[in-house]
Order: sequence, then structure tokens, then C-alpha cells
Amino acid sequence: MAQIVLDGIDKIYSGGVKAVDGLSLDVQDGEFMVLVGPSGCGKSTALRMIAGLEDISGGTLTIGEKVVNDLAPKDRDIAMVFQNYALYPHMTVEQNMAFGLQLRKTPKAEIKKRVGEAAKMLGLEPYLTRKPAALSGGQRQRVAMGRAIVREPQAFLMDEPLSNLDAKLRVSMRASLSQLHKRLGVTTIYVTHDQIEAMTLGDRVAVLRDGKLQQVNTPQYLFENP
Ligand code: ADP
Ligand code: ADP
Repeated sequence: MAQIVLDGIDKIYSGGVKAVDGLSLDVQDGEFMVLVGPSGCGKSTALRMIAGLEDISGGTLTIGEKVVNDLAPKDRDIAMVFQNYALYPHMTVEQNMAFGLQLRKTPKAEIKKRVGEAAKMLGLEPYLTRKPAALSGGQRQRVAMGRAIVREPQAFLMDEPLSNLDAKLRVSMRASLSQLHKRLGVTTIYVTHDQIEAMTLGDRVAVLRDGKLQQVNTPQYLFENP
């Protein structure tokens, strides 16, 4: 069963830039799909359309069994993790993780349980009462991931989540991300311009250039056929 299907997706910005051009991609249930390509090739735009943060100019986007072209982000059952973490500075780690569930009127006890589990999984238990300003970059990114995990969405969308971290932390966060994916098995679409991230994280890698899909293959295949 394909979980997220892009069928001939286009994005034309108001200035006339065609940022995404006829993109078709089947992301399987539980798959870790990486979108890779040089800056400006349309990766972020594609991801933002899947998230519902950007209107789709053409084509059909299906999540699960539903065509979601016209659904608001909150009705898409997906969670997005951003490069800049996008945490609320005035809230603690715990409050940041709980906020999305509170908006959706999840019962308090359920929120507590999910936040506790996510904090444990991400090694954030000691920091629950801290505010983002008192955390390292890697810890902030873990909070951003925790906030996505507690939603228990059908899919995660990640836009260069490691690119603000230093090289050493990127390596360890890459390993954490792989583990997390194995453990949760949630369909993930991950945007990066980093070849190593693409090759180590992806079940498959979709290569974009000038808004078009060049190829989609396993890392193994791409490695052997550069
Ligand atoms: P990437 O994520 O691969 O770096 P983007 O999706 O950010 O690429 O951008 C793809 C193209 O669309 C680029 O030419 C960029 O300048 C353009 N673009 C991105 N966002 C906007 C916008 N809000 N308005 C107009 N053009 C945009
Ligand atoms: P990234 O490459 O990480 O996507 P950018 O610096 O390209 O980041 O874009 C940052 C923000 O500026 C995004 O919200 C994007 O949509 C917007 N943007 C990018 N290019 C343009 C553009 N040509 N015109 C208007 N907005 C743009």
C-alpha cells in the first residue's frame, strides 16, 4: 500500500517560477524517502505542498486513501520537523511537546503518557522543565522531533532537520534518526542537500533537479551507478 502518492505535482509561484514540475512519487507505507538535490531544485517546496503549507498548482496528492490537495495542514495527519526547530521560546520542553496534542483536544492523561514516552525515547527526560534557550542545538532538534512523535501521525516530513547542527552532532543525530525510524516505522519524507545523509538514511532516494524528478532508487543502486 502506497502511503503518500504525488501524481504530476506542479508548483508555480506567483512570480512565475516553476519550482516543482510534474513530480510523481510513490512513498510506501513505512518507507524512509529522501528528497535530495542542489539548493533551489524544489525540495522544500515539494515538502511544503505535502504538508499543506503551500498551495498545489497542479496534480494530485494522496495521503493514505485520501486526496488531500485542498485539506488544511491540521487535517492531513502528518507532522513536520523544520530546520530551525520552530519551538515556542516561552514554553518548556514538556509544554512544547504537549502543545499540538492540546490543540487537538487529546485527553490530559494521554498527553502525559505520550510526552513521557517520547522524552524517554529521545533522552529528553532531564530537560522537560527547561526552556529552549537553555538547550543545545541537538537537544532542541530532539524536542522538535518529540513534538512530531507524540502526534502519532501517519507520516513525518523533515526539512533539513540536521543542517543547523555541527558535524559531530549531525553524525550522532543521523544514527538516532535511523533508530527512531526502525522503532516507529512511520512513513517519512526527508529533505536534504547532503549526499551522505541521503545515502545513510534513505530506504530510497529521489533526486531532484530544476523541479523535476531525475531518478528514484535505493542508496545501493545510486552508489554503484553514480
Ligand atoms: P530547495 O528546497 O531545493 O532549496 P526551494 O523549494 O526552496 O528549493 O525553491 C525552489 C525554487 O522556487 C527556487 O527557484 C526558489 O527561489 C523558488 N521559491 C521558493 N520559495 C518561493 C517563494 N515563496 N516565492 C517565489 N519563489 C520561491
Ligand atoms: P531553503 O533553501 O532552506 O529552502 P531558502 O533560503 O531558499 O531556504 O528559503 C527561505 C524562505 O524564503 C522560504 O520560506 C522560501 O519559500 C522563501 N523563498 C525562497 N526563494 C524565494 C523567492 N525567490 N521569492 C520569495 N521567497 C522565496
